[in-house]
Amino acid sequence: MIDLRSDTITKPTEAMRKAAYEAEVGDDVYGEDPTVLKLEEKAAEILGKESALFVTSGTQGNQIAVLTHCRPGNEILLESESHIFYYESGAVAALAGVQTRTIAGDRGAMNPMEIEASIRSVDQHFPETGLICLENTHNRAGGAVLPVSNMAVIYSIGQKHHIPVHVDGARLFNASAAINQPVTAFTNYCDTVQVCLSKGLGAPVGSILAGGKDFIASARKWRKRLGGGLRQVGIIAAPAYVALTEMRERLSEDHEKAKQLEDGLNSAGLKVINKVETNIIVVDVSEFNITSEQFVEDLKNEGVLAVTFGPTLVRFTTHYDVNPQEIEQTIVLVNKLVSSY
Ligand SMILES: *Cc1c(COP(=O)(O)O)cnc(C)c1O
Repeated sequence: MIDLRSDTITKPTEAMRKAAYEAEVGDDVYGEDPTVLKLEEKAAEILGKESALFVTSGTQGNQIAVLTHCRPGNEILLESESHIFYYESGAVAALAGVQTRTIAGDRGAMNPMEIEASIRSVDQHFPETGLICLENTHNRAGGAVLPVSNMAVIYSIGQKHHIPVHVDGARLFNASAAINQPVTAFTNYCDTVQVCLSKGLGAPVGSILAGGKDFIASARKWRKRLGGGLRQVGIIAAPAYVALTEMRERLSEDHEKAKQLEDGLNSAGLKVINKVETNIIVVDVSEFNITSEQFVEDLKNEGVLAVTFGPTLVRFTTHYDVNPQEIEQTIVLVNKLVSSY
């Protein structure tokens, strides 16, 4: 099977397994796990923030951010197809008790003027706007990179109105690789950021939430409340450290494989609907009069795994556990399938 469902399926490398085996550990709830401390310090440095917190998942990192920034009854502004809105099981409502106000983006980027117009004024009828959330790269927009300029304008609006900006940067390192600039080009324009180490970077587990010192101190308490205070967690922080320090450089290889696949899918007659900037390709199969579910099933029978991304949309994601030969093979198999329709 060639597995292009997600970059989350990547398995830990030899170096990660070795690092886990050899990790120095302690009780992290007591602040005594040296490997976690080293990871958090390095992550804060790379992300250009005062402090960082190792969390179990991207969802946990985003939810802790919303819980820490907001109070129940607040309203948060976020993109209509953002992960926090679309894919986190309603957690912002269930856990933080905030309501969402969504703004449709253009390739994931919200219009700053619409954001400013959506900020609530002081009025007893209104909820208070508690947070602006951005997503970079934007998953449902097909791994689109939010331009630094868009983030900069939104951040200045946030500052003007004293509203914090959180970035769901599950794939922020992909964005950084795509524009060939350090990740701080983006993180300069947010208060807090969540990055996944378990996607393209290949760690078995974990995300980082980074921000100011006081924010992270409160976030640490929310993590504990949610049952996320872990003990000898250096065992997973060690491979996460390898992911963070050794795997960023190679993300551009995933982007090259995505281009290779995009070309192949196009020439097979599939309609690629996103501008492929990173490691995600989205195709529309409606012209074959089949559902995305049917296409994914047929493709699986040929030996390739992808995921549905809407009634007629299918997503392919490249990652380090799939090589250029397998991409070529995928193109051959897709050609065969498409000519059978
Ligand atoms: C994957 C993803 C997350 C959540 O990460 P998990 O570790 O799966 O909880 C959050 N935001 C975006 C944009 C993602 O792609």
